[in-house]
Amino acid sequence: MIIKVRPALCHQRWYTSNARNAIGCLLFTLFTGLAAAATDAKQGATPEFAFWYEDWRSDTWAKLQPANTIIGVPPAALADIHSHGGRALRYVTFYQARFGSDFLHDEADLDNVGFHTKQGFLGSAFGGKDNYVLCSNSIELSRRVMLYVDRTIHHDGYDGIFIDNAYQPPASDEVCDAKHSHTTNGSKGGPAYVNLLDQIYIWMRKDAPAATIMVNAGNPVAADALNNGRSSLWDVTDYVLWESYAFSSHIGMAHDRIEATVRQSESTASSSHASKVLALAYPRNYEEAIFSFAIAQLFGFQYAANLGENDVGTAREGGHFGIFLRELPPQLGPPKSELQQIAGANILQRHFEAGDVMVNLDSRPWSFRTSRRGTLYSRSGASHTEQNMQIEIPPKSAAVTVFD
Ligand SMILES: [Zn+2]
Repeated sequence: MIIKVRPALCHQRWYTSNARNAIGCLLFTLFTGLAAAATDAKQGATPEFAFWYEDWRSDTWAKLQPANTIIGVPPAALADIHSHGGRALRYVTFYQARFGSDFLHDEADLDNVGFHTKQGFLGSAFGGKDNYVLCSNSIELSRRVMLYVDRTIHHDGYDGIFIDNAYQPPASDEVCDAKHSHTTNGSKGGPAYVNLLDQIYIWMRKDAPAATIMVNAGNPVAADALNNGRSSLWDVTDYVLWESYAFSSHIGMAHDRIEATVRQSESTASSSHASKVLALAYPRNYEEAIFSFAIAQLFGFQYAANLGENDVGTAREGGHFGIFLRELPPQLGPPKSELQQIAGANILQRHFEAGDVMVNLDSRPWSFRTSRRGTLYSRSGASHTEQNMQIEIPPKSAAVTVFD
């Protein structure tokens, strides 16, 4: 998985209204829509996602609980996942390919599926030897992609596909001038990519209605930018991955992305797309996991953490920092309020059927009283709490109360 970090391009001002909550604080309300905890009718239950990019072992399923949809697993994992009633999405990318792969056989095959410009066949924006951009407008690539998707679902037994690396500049803004036949003459790579995904999306609705399609756009701004004039990336996929949500897979200064994430979440949460967002955070410890989980809950996004656990206790980058899903709160159910900001402080809160979420983005501690008894999840772990208990949230941390 490639990490893409792009600046937020839009910043919607928070709407305000006067209201008083149970603890008497003046609140600002952020209109976010009530999109949290979307139910996936295809699997009859609320999906809970986990990525797993490591070897599948006999104890992996248990480690990933309560996830029921596992992304990126090898074919050898399918029998175990299905025996537990879970679902599996196959990793694939249609943006780039190396020789000897499903979509690019050898150098001569670039004539059929490579993206050609005046400079020659384009290399991938992510670099790498003999790693080429695929022409999203190529009729031959489209044929190969559709065969691949059909095989993945109907023969190999996957429950869907996870498409990494949505189309990248410069190819997304240029027109391929190769000699091969194109689906839409004169189309730029970006719009042609949306057309290609639309073809898959339509096929799935008809021939594999239970299958899931998810695309890694990097972030919502990039998903908006991929547009063919009729549809954007949002319209041709079941889920859009927002990678590096709150915390990136880097370590050091580039790890913390909280401020930009919160700012960009405001506009996405108030759009019709919120229920399609899967926020993938790369927390390095439980403290970061509960914080990023709580931020995603505020905005109504589904949440996943990390790609594996091989980097636990090391200084390596890459997002294999450990699985925290078992220690995080259970799903909170539908929201019972809009997202609210406490006046004069950078404190956000939202109420759900099964719990309350408070996030302290301020540089000072914040105290509040619990509305009901239950289990309190904070940076120090889970503990029992009674109703009306005073809780202090340290700066840059969260408190999630799950009601008894
Ligand atoms: Zn082309």
